[in-house]
Amino acid sequence: MTMASGSIGVEARSLVKRYGMVQAVDGVSFQVRRGEIFGFLGANGAGKTTTLRMLCGLILPTSGTALIDEFDVFRQPLEAKARLGYLDEEPFIHPHLTGREFLDYIADLYRMPRGPERQQRMERLLGLFELADRGELIGAYSHGMKQKIGLASLLIREPSVLLLDEPTNGLDPRSARLVKDLLEELAARGTTVLLSTHILEVAQALCHRITIIDRGRLVATGTVDELRAQTGSAQATLEDLFLRLTAGPESRELIDRLLEPQR
Ligand code: ATP
Repeated sequence: MTMASGSIGVEARSLVKRYGMVQAVDGVSFQVRRGEIFGFLGANGAGKTTTLRMLCGLILPTSGTALIDEFDVFRQPLEAKARLGYLDEEPFIHPHLTGREFLDYIADLYRMPRGPERQQRMERLLGLFELADRGELIGAYSHGMKQKIGLASLLIREPSVLLLDEPTNGLDPRSARLVKDLLEELAARGTTVLLSTHILEVAQALCHRITIIDRGRLVATGTVDELRAQTGSAQATLEDLFLRLTAGPESRELIDRLLEPQR
C-alpha cells in the first residue's frame, strides 16, 4: 500500500460547483482523517455525487480545491490519483470482458507487475465477492455483481483513500455485510474511506463521523452523538436527525394532499 505521511486522507476546501443557474455544491469544506470512515448523507440532488466527483478530479470545481493524502487533485493529479480508488454512482466497468479479464486489465493499466502475487490477489478478490466461477462477460452481470466487480477493481490496487458513491447500493444482505466488514478492516489498517449512502443504518453502524449536505451546503458534521448534541435531541435516531437537519415537507402532509380528492 502507498503510505501517506500526513494525517489527513481527504480534504474538501471551499468546493463550489455551478451548472448554469444550479448551485450544485455551495462552499463545501471538510477533512477526513487517515483511517477514518466518513459518511456523506443528503437528499436526492443535494450535491453528494458532484462533491465526490470533484474530490477525485473527475469534474473541475467552479472554485475551491480538493486534496487526497495532502496532494492537490488538480495541481498534483498523478500523485493524488495514484493514492485514490473511486467508485462512481455508475461504476466504470468493461462490459465486453469477464470479471477476471477486467481485473487483469485494471492491474495492467496501473502497471502492477505481472506475477504470482498479483494473480493471487486477483483470485482472492474474485473469491471474496463470489465471482470466481463466473465466466460470463460483465455486460451480462446483475446490478449487484457489477457493483462488486467495480469494488474489486479498486481494491486490487490497494489505494490508501477510497471514495465510494453508494457502495452497498444493490447488494444483497450478505454482500452488503461483507462490504461493511471489509471497509471496517481496511480503515483499521489505515485506509481512509469517504462514502455516500442513503442507508442510514449503514451510516450509523459503520461511519466514525458523518456530514449532512442539504441543497449544496453542509448543515452538520460530527459523530452521531455530536449531531444529537447540535440538534438538542439526545434520543434521536439518525433518521430523526437527518429529517430535522434537511429541508422538505413532512411525508404525511404530502400523502394527505395526494389522497385528499379521493375522500
Ligand atoms: P442522489 O442522491 O440523487 O444521487 P446527489 O446528492 O448525488 O443526489 P448530485 O448528483 O450531486 O446530487 O446533484 C446535485 C445537483 O446538481 C442537482 O440539482 C443536479 O440536478 C445538478 N447536476 C448534477 N450534475 C449536473 C450536470 N452535469 N449538469 C447540470 N446539473 C447537474
